[in-house]
Amino acid sequence: MSGLAAWGAVTALASGSAIGNLSPKGWLVGAVLATGAALLPDLDHPESTVSSTFGPVSQAGSKLINALSHGVYRLTRTKKDSNRDGGHRGLTHTLFFAVVATVVTTAIIQTSRSWALPVLMFFFCGLAVRGIMHKWCPRNDALWITGTALVLTYACLRWTDQTDANAAACGVAVGIGCVAHYLGDAITEQGCPILWPVPIAWKTWYPVAPPKIMRMRTGGRVEMAVVGPVLTAIAVWMSAIALHRAGVLPMLDGVPLEPWADAG
Ligand SMILES: [Zn+2]
Repeated sequence: MSGLAAWGAVTALASGSAIGNLSPKGWLVGAVLATGAALLPDLDHPESTVSSTFGPVSQAGSKLINALSHGVYRLTRTKKDSNRDGGHRGLTHTLFFAVVATVVTTAIIQTSRSWALPVLMFFFCGLAVRGIMHKWCPRNDALWITGTALVLTYACLRWTDQTDANAAACGVAVGIGCVAHYLGDAITEQGCPILWPVPIAWKTWYPVAPPKIMRMRTGGRVEMAVVGPVLTAIAVWMSAIALHRAGVLPMLDGVPLEPWADAG
């Protein structure tokens, strides 16, 4: 939900720029990518919900990412960094990774819209479904998720006509999703090493986090009762602004969706 809220907010508030004036179809593709990308960083944890998205396939991929992340942590940590494993909340939890993911996505889609976009859409649809329906189908769920992702991808691409998607906007959507994830992790107890490898207090993996009072427990009551509903409301509101501007929701004509715009 945070990925969708972030994508909605960026596209709604960046009205003067290219990303604020996407076609409805381009916006939808970006929304799917950003929602899924908000779960991408946790593929570094083989036991995470998101790593079970595509069953043994994504679990194997996750083990690989975890090993790589562990290696990079061990290689680049200083004496001041904590002596943790580093496989989880490592490389995939840095702005460096978000930038790489943005560039790689843009490059892949630029190379081929005919096969690359459907493959990426399928992958991120799967992550998005897994994330939003995280308690859905506890057994045999990988097959259900894979099937649902396939249907959603097909439906999405039928409607989006493929050629319409802007490669750079797709890349930015993936980057936005990753950053939304980092912000979410930063407000939990462990923090998030967003700024690696920039050393802060002699730590290259400095866990960025707000003051203790503003942090919460993962899956705790604050997250479920406050953060979840607020993010959902922001996601719906911001998406409505972006889609209305793109001309898809004419019934919202005259509704004061952007109170800040009317002030001036
Ligand atoms: Zn995480």
